[in-house]
Amino acid sequence: MPDFAYARHRMVERQLAGRGIADARVLGAMGEVPREAFVSEGMEEFAYEDSPLPIEAGQTISQPYIVGLMVEAAAVRPGERVLEIGAGSGYAAAVMSRIAADVYAIERHEPLTRLAQGRLDKLGYHNIHLKTGDGSGGWPDAAPFDAIVAAAGGPTVPERLTSQLAIGGRLVMPVGDEQRHQRLLKLTRLSEAEFKQEDLGEVFFVPLIGEHGWTEDDRRSPSEPRSFREPQRPDTISELIARATEPLPDFEDPAFGYLFDRFAGAKVVLLGESSHGASEFYRARAAITKRLIDRHGFRIVAVEADWPDAAHFDRYVRDLPPPKHDEPPFRRFPAWMWRNTDVESFIEDLREWNLARPEQDRAGFYGLDLYNLSASIRAVLDYLDRVDPEAAGIARTRYGCLTPWAKEPQAYGRMALSRGYRDCEEGVVKTLTEMLQKRRQYARADGAAFLDAEGNARLVKNAEAYYRAMYYGSAESWNLRDTHMFETLCSLLDAGGPNAKAIVWAHNSHIGDASKTEMGLERDELNIGQLCRERFGRDACLIGFGTHTGTVACADDWDEPMQVKRVTPSLPDSYERLAHDSGVGRFMLDLRDGVHDPLRHRLLAPRLERFIGVIYRPETERWSHYAACSIPQQFDAYVWFDETTAVTPLLSETRSGGEETYPFGL
Ligand code: SAM
Repeated sequence: MPDFAYARHRMVERQLAGRGIADARVLGAMGEVPREAFVSEGMEEFAYEDSPLPIEAGQTISQPYIVGLMVEAAAVRPGERVLEIGAGSGYAAAVMSRIAADVYAIERHEPLTRLAQGRLDKLGYHNIHLKTGDGSGGWPDAAPFDAIVAAAGGPTVPERLTSQLAIGGRLVMPVGDEQRHQRLLKLTRLSEAEFKQEDLGEVFFVPLIGEHGWTEDDRRSPSEPRSFREPQRPDTISELIARATEPLPDFEDPAFGYLFDRFAGAKVVLLGESSHGASEFYRARAAITKRLIDRHGFRIVAVEADWPDAAHFDRYVRDLPPPKHDEPPFRRFPAWMWRNTDVESFIEDLREWNLARPEQDRAGFYGLDLYNLSASIRAVLDYLDRVDPEAAGIARTRYGCLTPWAKEPQAYGRMALSRGYRDCEEGVVKTLTEMLQKRRQYARADGAAFLDAEGNARLVKNAEAYYRAMYYGSAESWNLRDTHMFETLCSLLDAGGPNAKAIVWAHNSHIGDASKTEMGLERDELNIGQLCRERFGRDACLIGFGTHTGTVACADDWDEPMQVKRVTPSLPDSYERLAHDSGVGRFMLDLRDGVHDPLRHRLLAPRLERFIGVIYRPETERWSHYAACSIPQQFDAYVWFDETTAVTPLLSETRSGGEETYPFGL
């Protein structure tokens, strides 16, 4: 059973106060009303999510922030009489009833009114007068009102409503030419005939259907004069995007890389992806990476992959003998992420580029992630066996208590609850510390191999903590993972000397600044992008990637077979939809301060952004794959492919094993 009181408290703190809602009465009321009592059965666990939720009759309960924003804008005060149009679940009416003397609320769907009445009775909120009907004409018998709040969007503000406002009264309503895309307007009645109008920003509400709103079949009601129309904006956001974007040429065209030269001054360029299975993202990152290596001195490619697996590719591109451990790389789920035709072609190009250069000038390919615990342990031991057999003996004993669970590391979390894992933790930490202390000594003997073993030792230490934390809570485990990736990146940069420069390939969720998304704002999750900004400031460049539709390589669940699924077209209230509506098929948008400020400013308010990982569940997409973000704060640039195609995995049976296909063979 979720701790609703805590979730409510966090919602008030993060989603409301954290975003500038300051009216103590609103914060108090929203901290009091149990939102979980107003959502549909089965949706309680999502009640305090930063989003609207579906309710019965195909309607929605508004996002908590929007409820707070509207009630604050309506400046509801004790002793007042308030009208709400579109009572829906009854939640907003309940919130206002905690402040005002009387709330009158109208809902056009009778089943919703009935459900809402039941909830309000159960809670003992008796100052709400609820009825079924068309609220677009207000509730003349109960007028005048000190505040009117419309929770559905109309083409205009009906004169029938403004006439029911008391002098000094406030009306807040979404208004727009499109049925589900409006601007939130506030009208204050200054005198019998005078009104002040304010524009509170862009919103997405269900339509106000009725005599003074929209008709059922999508047309503006003919009875409504066009008073208080939305002020016409010169451009939509999508039009501004279309003008600001720089179209992307073919991947093979050198002009593709030129576009990214402006970011080459950074020490770290992080390249994202909005799924783990779209070919265009890999090919774009390959083109940008090759340019940064060839022209701008980048020599480290660090990817969201396991260190020991990536080491196979690294040794191949740098023309070194394969690592001693013989297990072929990237055979475990999700193998398609790195065993696909796009990665193969990038690795071949990198090798070719390297072969034309002296060893010390070659670019390397490294893994930042910490999943492959067992291979890492083996790699550390192999290394120590070779360079320090005595240390290997000690490490073997220390790692001994981890190894039994290493094949199924999640199980280690369970064991950690009942056994004294601390002994083990101390052991692996000590092994890592000793390796670091001996760094100079080992580096003299074999620099490159040391870096490999050091990475593995850190991985073992962090993976131990990660798998233990996975059992306790997701934020901690996510943070351990991303902190591990960041530490590994820093260690690669340190090893490369003061002028070392790195390119990172990882999912948008890792490389976009988490502190500007729901991850950081609500769940205390950080990520490698945020840590890079904190460490390197403007010398970190974060580039996000996105798509509207197409196909994607993914799975139904962890360890399930790869499938190619269709990506559902993006939601209307998402950044992706704005990009799609720009009509530009593939582009790069520079989001840095001072470049396209008017557009940047209009993109700042949080909207939905889609995240598809190795698992994709289109059936529950809104809840499992979208989160609220502020893209101009999350990224320095955004790369867009309106339609993407699934990667082509390298299937083992279609390739012969052996030296000639290393490292992609069996
Ligand atoms: N305030 C609601 C809550 O807290 O759950 C959210 C309501 S939802 C965003 C908007 C509601 O407006 C829907 O339930 C819809 O049926 C209702 N609606 C649309 N047109 C209406 C009209 N003309 N009169 C009354 N209700 C209307």
